Amino acid sequence: MKGAIQMAGPRKCDVTGCEQPPVRSLSGSRVAPYLEIGIEGGKGHSRKSRAHLCQEHYREYKKKARKDREVERAYWH
Ligand SMILES: [Zn+2]
Repeated sequence: MKGAIQMAGPRKCDVTGCEQPPVRSLSGSRVAPYLEIGIEGGKGHSRKSRAHLCQEHYREYKKKARKDREVERAYWH
């Protein structure tokens, strides 16, 4: 295991207060509007803001993001 890839990420979901193991890693800026994540512009964190989400919060994110898109589409109509 001496590849360039390092599992330096957190072992927990990035949503504030959540302790579940993450199953997905998304760009923080994409997730930030929908979930309360403690990474973007956060203290002590590097600028590579990836949001790690657990199963539950990933589902929540997807749900909210999709809803948003539906609203957008309604406007386009
Ligand atoms: Zn979570």
